[in-house]
Amino acid sequence: MGTDLFEAESSVPILQNVPLAPMTTLGVGGAARWFARATCVEGVAAIASERNAPVFVLGGGSNLVVADAGFDGLVLQVGIDGIGAARNGGDVMVSAGAGASWDAVVDYAVAQGLAGLECLSGIPGSVGGTPVQNVGAYGQEVANAIDSVRAYDLVAREVVSFSAADCGFAYRTSRFKQDDAGRFVICDVVFRLRPGGAPTVTYRDVIEFFTTHGSASPDVAAVRNAVLTIRRSKGMVIDAADPDTHSVGSFFMNPVVDRSVFEWIAPAPHYLMDNDTVKIPAAWLIEQSGFQRGHGDGAVGLSSKHPLAIVNRGGATARDVVRLASRIKRTVMEKFGVTLRPEPVFVGFGDDPDVSYLRG
Ligand SMILES: Cc1cc2nc3c(=O)[nH]c(=O)nc-3n(C[C@H](O)[C@H](O)[C@H](O)COP(=O)(O)OP(=O)(O)OC[C@H]3O[C@@H](n4cnc5c(N)ncnc54)[C@H](O)[C@@H]3O)c2cc1C
Repeated sequence: MGTDLFEAESSVPILQNVPLAPMTTLGVGGAARWFARATCVEGVAAIASERNAPVFVLGGGSNLVVADAGFDGLVLQVGIDGIGAARNGGDVMVSAGAGASWDAVVDYAVAQGLAGLECLSGIPGSVGGTPVQNVGAYGQEVANAIDSVRAYDLVAREVVSFSAADCGFAYRTSRFKQDDAGRFVICDVVFRLRPGGAPTVTYRDVIEFFTTHGSASPDVAAVRNAVLTIRRSKGMVIDAADPDTHSVGSFFMNPVVDRSVFEWIAPAPHYLMDNDTVKIPAAWLIEQSGFQRGHGDGAVGLSSKHPLAIVNRGGATARDVVRLASRIKRTVMEKFGVTLRPEPVFVGFGDDPDVSYLRG
């Protein structure tokens, strides 16, 4: 940890030169010039008004590539904790602080027989990170369970509330990741869940799991366990003993392409979006382009269990990660004419041309 510099009005210490790599699952990148952790909304407001410097909001660090030069500003980690529930007609509203562990919230909901989050079991990170990229897995997206999001607006300097409709949710994105990136510090989230509701069993892997295990009508707890089992087999549950989990999970989103592009590529696994567009698994495109699971490239490589995860094999730099990701993107473009777009957030890269290429 860095040196204790001074205290904000809320008595939250602001530290200097704090290494960020250990706070991320990928484990690359330099230090934050300033760093503070707020455990209440007042603390967020006090810290935010303290420094006239760019602010980056840190959750659990599971979707970040931090630049080797670090972040020349204030990294504000949201540590607002707490999970609670209240009845609302036929639904149960579960509220959670942005700093609470996401999987603890899923576990809490499932333990009470509440349906709506069970397929999102095992996703690392904080509650506050989930609306940002509208986390999704195994047939569910958090957008469908979110009732409202409360945040501190760093521009207007006030607490604001968003309904789910105001959040601009789409596939792996929201207003918090796009138009308003960096503007709002999410403080808590309310989820609307269905007591005793049927779990979501629509995703092929989950259906196959229950076919194999002979369970005709699983409950939410069974679906949570199935999802955790499937995720572990793909290195998608954080496990200090599993080197394949030193990643950001999927590095690329699944591209949605015009039907004409798909017909040129076919036969390929796909999912019809509508009459004109088709979603193709990025993992398939990557493997067909010559990057197999377990692919090694110095200190970085691909997970031995999933070609979509770029892993830090030990001692990697952010530049190593960006270089491999760019090589994959370029090769897929050359072979299939399809643009892969990265899922994680890049911190401290400024207008770095390699990162601009990756994002483009
Ligand atoms: C092994 C592994 C598996 C994964 N599997 C999945 C998966 O199945 N599906 C999926 O969608 N994602 C997955 N991810 C990605 C990641 O876990 C999620 O995106 C997660 O929600 C990120 O949350 P976080 O708290 O770690 O956010 P961080 O990584 O800390 O931050 C990510 C972004 O959210 C912003 N942010 C975080 N907290 C706040 C806040 N309180 N207020 C405002 N902005 C905030 C940050 O500024 C940044 O822009 C996986 C990652 C790993 C490592």
